[in-house]
Amino acid sequence: MTKSPVWHPFTQHAVQPEATLISKGEGAWLEAADGRRIFDAISSWWVVTHGHRHPHIVKAIKDQIDRLDQVIFAGFTHEPAEKLARHLVEITPPELEYVFFSDSGSTSVEVALKMALGFWQNRGIKRSRILALEGAYHGDTIGGMSVGERGVFNAPYDPLLFDVERIPFPAAGREEVTLDALHVACKRDDVAALIVEPLILGAGGMLIYPASVLAEMKRVCETHDVLFIADEVMTGWGRTGTLFACEQAGIAPDIACYSKGLTGGSVPLAVTLCRADIFDAHYSTDRSKTFFHSSSYTANPVACAAALANLEIWQREPVMERIGSIAALHKDRLTRFRDDRRFANLRQIGTIAALDIVAKDAGYLADIGPRLYRGFLARELLVRPLGNTIYIMPPYCSTTSDLDLVYDAIDELAGEVA
Ligand SMILES: *Cc1c(COP(=O)(O)O)cnc(C)c1O
Repeated sequence: MTKSPVWHPFTQHAVQPEATLISKGEGAWLEAADGRRIFDAISSWWVVTHGHRHPHIVKAIKDQIDRLDQVIFAGFTHEPAEKLARHLVEITPPELEYVFFSDSGSTSVEVALKMALGFWQNRGIKRSRILALEGAYHGDTIGGMSVGERGVFNAPYDPLLFDVERIPFPAAGREEVTLDALHVACKRDDVAALIVEPLILGAGGMLIYPASVLAEMKRVCETHDVLFIADEVMTGWGRTGTLFACEQAGIAPDIACYSKGLTGGSVPLAVTLCRADIFDAHYSTDRSKTFFHSSSYTANPVACAAALANLEIWQREPVMERIGSIAALHKDRLTRFRDDRRFANLRQIGTIAALDIVAKDAGYLADIGPRLYRGFLARELLVRPLGNTIYIMPPYCSTTSDLDLVYDAIDELAGEVA
């Protein structure tokens, strides 16, 4: 076979020479070209909710592409986008009244940041500073990287990234430190917004914090008129046990980003929802106040149809029960490792379970991550540890026996890599 010209994401080609060739997906399983069946324990990078190729979503995509594949979204609109926007406004907090479409989690974050800055600029108020949590991940575009944790991932681009004020992560027992720091930061009169991953930092290591802290962060922002941006790109669509993570804190964000599970994980789509006054700040006969953002495929009709089908699945099928069963199974299976000294920081929220392997060599670039990955793959399991953190974030159609394959593998592999 000739060498592939494909440059893969987050892949060091010098040490990961061969990508597994996948030819089919069905439910919670992938099928490799060589016939192997691989359990997708991380939902293909957190996007697949109801399983690969859910028939209702597949049908919606096929029906839509037969009618309208793509159309410019400035000056034109279409039924799938209109219906989807209405439906999203219905299922999110009543404060969120407008829907802006984009194509990925990163772009939904860029849109959120631009909405926040436009809101203040168009009202003639000088506020442009962004606050973000330490350890956060908000995507790989320049704005997303700027508000995300700095490190080896973005060191070469650091000269391009804008300054952000960091709020310490609310680690257990240190919640007051976070809230005090937020309070102090919000007192500056140039703060436009705080952006957070609600309840759990994803790529930052599956670090969970309590809903009460999230609620308190929102309250502090409100006190100081700082916009609160919830990046629900990963946490949305049931991942944390509720449809959206913010529900557990009983809060309504001013701006919210959703992507990953928005189409059930079938095709790319993202939305940024906002409060009416953010839309209104851009609503003017003065055309310079327009929200100047778009991408070519904004609100692609096929993607919108897939998202509508996803929402119908949430209404028709017992999705919450499935999520509840996975959460209960995680809880139960993690107890097996509770007194095991090979593991630390056992944690779980909704369908996400995580634990750290106790190792001398632990950072993201440590060899333990790729070794574990290869060990799981050899057992026909797709699990991609974040350094020494192993996590499971499966599609909601995963069965007990599927998940037990992963828990058994964790037990075996921890012995091998230690
Ligand atoms: C994945 C993710 C993003 C980026 O989404 P992409 O679709 O990969 O651009 C942003 N924020 C969070 C919290 C994420 O988990």
